[in-house]
Amino acid sequence: MAIQLRLLHYTLFPLLLIAASVNANQRPGSLPLRNDSAAVRLASTDYGNLVHEIPSSVLFPTSVDDIVDLIKLSNHNDDHRRRGVAARGHGHSIRGQAMARGGVVVNMASLNRSCNGARIQVVRDKELGFYVDVGGEQLWIDVLQATLRQGLAPESWTDYLYLTVGGTLSNAGISGQAFLHGPQISNVLEMDVITGKGELMTCSKDKNPDLFFGVLGGLGQFGIITRARIPLAKAPTRVKWAFLVYSNFSDFSRDQEKLIASTMAPAPDFVEGLLVTTENITQQWRSRFSSPSNQSAIADLLKKQGILYAIEVVKYYHSHTPASPPTDKEFERLLKQLSFIPSFIFSRDASYFEFLTRVSNLGNLPAPIPFHPWLNLFIPKSRISDFNAAVLAGMLPTLPHPDPSTVYIFYPLNRNKWDARMSAVTPDEEVFYTLGLLHTSTTSDNAEINDKFNDEVMRICREEGIQVKQYFPHYQSRQEWINHFGPKWPIMKHKKAIFDPKRILSPGQRIFNHI
Ligand code: FAD
Repeated sequence: MAIQLRLLHYTLFPLLLIAASVNANQRPGSLPLRNDSAAVRLASTDYGNLVHEIPSSVLFPTSVDDIVDLIKLSNHNDDHRRRGVAARGHGHSIRGQAMARGGVVVNMASLNRSCNGARIQVVRDKELGFYVDVGGEQLWIDVLQATLRQGLAPESWTDYLYLTVGGTLSNAGISGQAFLHGPQISNVLEMDVITGKGELMTCSKDKNPDLFFGVLGGLGQFGIITRARIPLAKAPTRVKWAFLVYSNFSDFSRDQEKLIASTMAPAPDFVEGLLVTTENITQQWRSRFSSPSNQSAIADLLKKQGILYAIEVVKYYHSHTPASPPTDKEFERLLKQLSFIPSFIFSRDASYFEFLTRVSNLGNLPAPIPFHPWLNLFIPKSRISDFNAAVLAGMLPTLPHPDPSTVYIFYPLNRNKWDARMSAVTPDEEVFYTLGLLHTSTTSDNAEINDKFNDEVMRICREEGIQVKQYFPHYQSRQEWINHFGPKWPIMKHKKAIFDPKRILSPGQRIFNHI
């Protein structure tokens, strides 16, 4: 109640006054803004549960025009704090990136509610082939279901599908298909974007390319994506899926790099890696691969090694029944080229849908809500052994109080699948690894320990001269952002001045607005 009164008095009121004083075409006063505690609570919460910024109000758009109007109104507001506008996709950010302290959060999901599923359209075009036009607020799980109904699917995914199209395209969107098809940002034909000036623009490689490439991996800085056009391919029906365990880091990284090389034959469709520690061995999704006896064999090995490495490799195939023999033979031929511990291979056959939805919906976590102080890094291949020695083998087994649901993801990507014109930043090498230290902490004290651990990882990289880049970057100072973007920083600044000159959009990223 106290929050509500404060909000009404100090924040929503000025916005409504401005709304009453601008151009009649902007439908003054009619914006579906809310500032009740439920709306504000949701808009000031994210998956990380580490940052809580209170907005003045939350827009529940019933149309794209509502967002256009809001941004135009915000351009008339001279109060820096109040004009900030953040699109909130599914709030799966970790550190308040989709929040707007004192500003307005756009609840993107609301666009979907009023459109009755019409914002996912599968189209066959004579020139472009099959594609899907999707609202920026759509969840990838819904895109998968809608396209599979027509036997089609996008080729690049994330591990977890309860994320929005606009949210992942603002970062990169990576999973085990990215080595082959590139990240999701490399798989976009066209977008509709509302810029920070309130202009609704269509962009592609050929039309408004500065905006197109700026928005892809642009951390929400240049516009709000209201539609993305994603190419589709014939969807496989089933997968051969193996989980291979390694105790030796050189074998593990050599095999991963072999698997993602264009010369690999037969080529896999999906390659990821994981770090197995004593704590996370029993994770539910991973345990699908192994019986309790297999798990105890891994646990015995872990006691000796401290840390194990695992590759998940998948080959797709088209059949309505499991185990079609040619695919089995192909998969065997692929696995024969690898040097995992021979008795530590766990494999299965699954439907394509089951495979893509292997991480189930985490939406309704039981209280108390855990904290997720994650650190995601891109690490250049040339220093991967040093990184392993210093951080993975050196530090991870000593991390105090890791939670059993903590996941460590670790696999290589090919930079030639990333268009350098996009805003996303990668290390300056042809192959780089992605590492996700996906800590779960059940208490705030443990979250602090994990955060200190992350800081220590960054400190070691600086000291050892390992030029890592953060994925889902989070920095405290302007200088750190300048270092992060490197040669792309002047381009980011230039595009911000053109597309969002009043620095309205995505203030929670704290790139141009240090609030
Ligand atoms: P939000 O957190 O709501 O928003 C993220 C940023 O994008 C904010 O700055 C926001 O203002 C901006 N934004 C949101 N919508 C739009 C829009 N329509 N237009 C412009 N800007 C917008 N990432 C991967 O790459 N691969 C994975 O496998 C993966 N798995 C994940 C699993 C879990 C459990 C979680 C919590 C996250 C995972 N992520 C993964 C990270 C995920 O990609 C990011 O959290 C991303 O931000 C998408 O989340 P969201 O849709 O909830 O966006």
